[in-house]
Amino acid sequence: MTTSRPRVRIDARRCDRCGRCLAACPRNAIRIGRTFIAVDPLACDGCMACVKVCQSGALSAVGPAGTGAASPTRRPSAQAPRSVAHHPSSTPRARSSAGRARASHEGWTALEALAMLGVTLAAFVGKEALLALQPVRSLPTGSLVLVRAVVLGAYYAVQLGAVRWLAARRGRTLADLLRSGDRSLKDRAATAGLAALVLIGSRAAAMAYGLVMRSAGLVPDSSALLTTFGSQAAGLVLAAVLVVFVGPLVEELVFRGVLLQGMASQFNASIAIVVQALIFAALHRSVWLFLPMAVLGGALGWLAHKRGGLRAPVAVHAAYNAITVAAAFALSG
Ligand code: SF4
Ligand code: SF4
Repeated sequence: MTTSRPRVRIDARRCDRCGRCLAACPRNAIRIGRTFIAVDPLACDGCMACVKVCQSGALSAVGPAGTGAASPTRRPSAQAPRSVAHHPSSTPRARSSAGRARASHEGWTALEALAMLGVTLAAFVGKEALLALQPVRSLPTGSLVLVRAVVLGAYYAVQLGAVRWLAARRGRTLADLLRSGDRSLKDRAATAGLAALVLIGSRAAAMAYGLVMRSAGLVPDSSALLTTFGSQAAGLVLAAVLVVFVGPLVEELVFRGVLLQGMASQFNASIAIVVQALIFAALHRSVWLFLPMAVLGGALGWLAHKRGGLRAPVAVHAAYNAITVAAAFALSG
């Protein structure tokens, strides 16, 4: 399935990096470095403003309906990439140039998303296999909590390493990936407003779901956190570090970053949001948690898609988890 919007085709060889398209793009969807130019398929709304201002013929419109937006004088290149042109050997200078560029999406490809998914699934299977070992399960509670925390930390470290490696291939850093696309106070206010909406909405949905489940007699696994980390102070510290800080950072880079953007480069953005949310929910390995996690993953995906950048999704995810951790430990007495 392809997107219903026209897409921008780039012939990077013709681009003289004049920056007109950057200034014309209302969605901050274009990123230009010294050796590459890319359009983020998630942020791009197909308005074709960039195509109209490009005087070098580097940009043209492809896809349904809106193709008329392209200048008839443009000469599409047979060698041009579909929607993202990127030179993997970007220089440090290109990196800093890209860092200053307004777009915050990386324009991850479907292949990169597939590789990231493979690493994530392998790490997940490894984590579950380790924790299922009888010698591990028979450890005393204190040691078991520590082992669980170490294994969970390793799970996140593997994913973070994979994202870092993918970013390094593009001459980017993890900080670059998190950079916000907001440039004005108005942009930041809009992002903060939507982030608050997502946090309140997803928490309210989770609360309503919990109430319905309890009233139906389907006792939810509400003590999953306590089961993993115990109810002692050390468990609270471990949960705060791993669940409130590390987890949201890594999961946003992976799910709302590489997976969402990579899938959206091939499919409709809505489908990409739903699919990454379902995978995100499934990896929380709880039937009871699946629905609220899918809602959270979808809402975070929508936020990332709507506003660009991962800072807001990381902040919302961290706040969501902080409320969960605080409630679990408070209720444990
Ligand atoms: S307007 Fe055209 S030539 Fe100028 S930076 Fe954009 S793509 Fe390159
Ligand atoms: S078509 Fe996309 S990249 Fe070009 S100006 Fe419009 S939103 Fe920006």
